[in-house]
Amino acid sequence: MISRERIIPILATFFIINASSAFFIGSGFGFTAQAKNIFHKDQASYAEVSTTSEQTLSNIASSTEKIDLPILVYHIVRPSYPDDSEAVRTLALTPEIFDAEMMYLDKTGHHIVSFSDLENYFRSGTLLPDKPVIISFDDGWSDQFKYSFPTLKKYNFKATFFVFTNSIGRHDFLTWEELQEMLDAGMTIGSHSRSHPYLANITDPDTLWDEIYGSKVLLEKHLGIHVNEFAYPFGQYNADTVAMVVKAGYRSGRGDFYSGKQTADRLYELSAMNAPTTMEFFVMRFPSR
Ligand SMILES: [Zn+2]
Repeated sequence: MISRERIIPILATFFIINASSAFFIGSGFGFTAQAKNIFHKDQASYAEVSTTSEQTLSNIASSTEKIDLPILVYHIVRPSYPDDSEAVRTLALTPEIFDAEMMYLDKTGHHIVSFSDLENYFRSGTLLPDKPVIISFDDGWSDQFKYSFPTLKKYNFKATFFVFTNSIGRHDFLTWEELQEMLDAGMTIGSHSRSHPYLANITDPDTLWDEIYGSKVLLEKHLGIHVNEFAYPFGQYNADTVAMVVKAGYRSGRGDFYSGKQTADRLYELSAMNAPTTMEFFVMRFPSR
């Protein structure tokens, strides 16, 4: 049962990416080609990063205490279209349902926290509020700015938007200006790589480093921020991927999709869950008591 729960949402994410974007369909992950071996003068190569300065996993508390902190993952929030595929419907919410979910969290005493709140709890014991929840958005669709961002502001909720940098400014994707506006309103921008590849399938360390670290540097340069959160595309990763995310200086990593429980020893493999697309399932996952 556990493995089934793990696999289905990951596959769903795969299908949604392929089904909902002409870029992915038409060019066969055309973003990938642009991502290879692009290094900037101000960007250290993988080999140049000192091993003594890197943050190691051993710095993290070894506690395996489980805390209930669901990390919601939203992809598409927009009005439904008659020709939406089944794959899109699996992960898409209308703006009305998204508003209803946020209102429900607000009224039932849930508290929206950030990845850094969770990290601070694990690293230094900073207390979390009751019934904490993290809200995140993936893939940088412009609809998120149009339909989700106003609702988040309405409830004074802060969310993390994971963008893959090759998409920024492209048709249907968030622009740098929109990212800046969301930052100014208290949202967090995290990296979702450069080209949204299956990171665990990349064998060239320089290419992997550019996906993980290059995307971080680019976001930091454009937005003037520290980018501390990484979300693995498709929720797919392996030990090498995680080690590189640590080495790149991220403070946490959002992993695969199967649980709402978090432990300190998985700070770079945090469990996430695709947001329920109906209120019926949402209420089941977030009981009001
Ligand atoms: Zn994604």
